[in-house]
Amino acid sequence: MSRSPSADGRPLLLFNSLGRRLEEFTPVHPPQVGVYTCGPTVYAYPHLGNLRAYVFADGLRRALEWKGYEVRQIVNITDVGHLTSDQDEGEDKMLVAALREGRSMREIAQTYTQAFMDDVRRLAILPATVYPRASDHVPEMIEFVKVLEAKGYTYGLPTGLYFDTGRSQDYGRLALLDREGVREGRIESVEGKRNAADFALWRSRVGEARRAMEWDSRWGPGAPGWHLECSVMSMKYLGNHFDIHTGGVDHREVHHVNEIAQSEAYLGDGEAWVRYWLHNEFLLFTREKMSKSAGGTIRLEDLIERGYHPSVFRHFTLTAHYRSKMNFSFEALDAAEASLRRLLLRVRDRRREGDGSGQRPDFHSTLERLKSEAGRRYLLGMDEAVSADLNTPRALALVDAFTQDTSLDRQEVRALLEAADTILGLGLPDTQVEDLSAKSAIEDSAVAEIERLVQARSRARAAARWEEADALRRQLKELGVQVTDTAGGTEWYPIRRQPPAV
Ligand SMILES: [Zn+2]
Repeated sequence: MSRSPSADGRPLLLFNSLGRRLEEFTPVHPPQVGVYTCGPTVYAYPHLGNLRAYVFADGLRRALEWKGYEVRQIVNITDVGHLTSDQDEGEDKMLVAALREGRSMREIAQTYTQAFMDDVRRLAILPATVYPRASDHVPEMIEFVKVLEAKGYTYGLPTGLYFDTGRSQDYGRLALLDREGVREGRIESVEGKRNAADFALWRSRVGEARRAMEWDSRWGPGAPGWHLECSVMSMKYLGNHFDIHTGGVDHREVHHVNEIAQSEAYLGDGEAWVRYWLHNEFLLFTREKMSKSAGGTIRLEDLIERGYHPSVFRHFTLTAHYRSKMNFSFEALDAAEASLRRLLLRVRDRRREGDGSGQRPDFHSTLERLKSEAGRRYLLGMDEAVSADLNTPRALALVDAFTQDTSLDRQEVRALLEAADTILGLGLPDTQVEDLSAKSAIEDSAVAEIERLVQARSRARAAARWEEADALRRQLKELGVQVTDTAGGTEWYPIRRQPPAV
């Protein structure tokens, strides 16, 4: 491959949680890239906060493919070992769910794995290469722990076999905590632990209820600790060292710290196990972290029942950078729906001609399809946005811009829409505006008139002609349109006939 630098696009910069800085991404074995994404614990329905993490990981995958890399992505399914507290305490979440619902753990796992897969499909998240299940990999986990044991990293207690973090080099460097700090910062609840941060590799089991998730091992019957599965399954499917590990920011301080400690102890080659760690921020719901414990649990299914297309939620999450906390509200979701609707209306008659390949185009294949200076500028702009640590708000703004640029011909708009879709996954080339929802539909023919009135109102406001601006607002309302003035300009959206109750 010999290409001039200008034809290669920008280098991909990613914010690495190891060291907390932007770094240029370079894979271990180009053009292959290995990505491991911490997957769901299948004890309950995924909520919107969970789903943000998978939309983000999908966006990362799309950015890599846009850059021409071949991505192998692993998303694990946790069906054993994850305790009610991420701090390695409490009862297994799967067992709690089974007792709560009066069903077997197998049934619980099946139900909620299916629910997760349904949401993945509806959000146009590209399927992972493999979705390995923890319960299918217990023998490998036992072998992994035997190696740690042979190297002297473990010690036994009546409650199980523990990893001695005191023996680990640089324990906690991902969390930016010195080892003493980590030791003191955790609650020591298990008697006999050498360091508060030490975690169970193997949990000894007592009691009848736990029999269903018990395996034999040299440390007695029991179950693996939660952190173990991600180390074992990632190495199995991606090799000992791979490129990128992702997860929610809530995994950064404990789960991922422990994955690193045990993996680097296991490998013992003095090299960093994984070079890039990427974490997405929370989705907040009335200022609470959206988690089961906070009580605020809205599912994708709930949004669909209220008439929202899944792409609207996807669009909503892309309006914020993945490292920003984001507030969920139905008003914000309505605004996302309105933006997507405007976009689809604008491109309705301008996107008929595809390249016919059915392939997701990347930067280079799109560049070849663009003839005009303006078209290439938009493409370079989108590449720059995606290269700047996945700046999806910037990419969305560019889509807004090129769909309003009348100097581009149909083929170029189509090429740019397909390119934007590689990055954003919003189904722009194919989703019809009618697919969004029927209840707040605006006639196609009315859009140009609405945008004309909105612009006239903006001009009136800028010139302080308030009466004229108010009259235009009333006129828009009669057309079923509401306007909102934001820092980024004036936005309009259809008035929802039945505001959703929260
Ligand atoms: Zn994990």
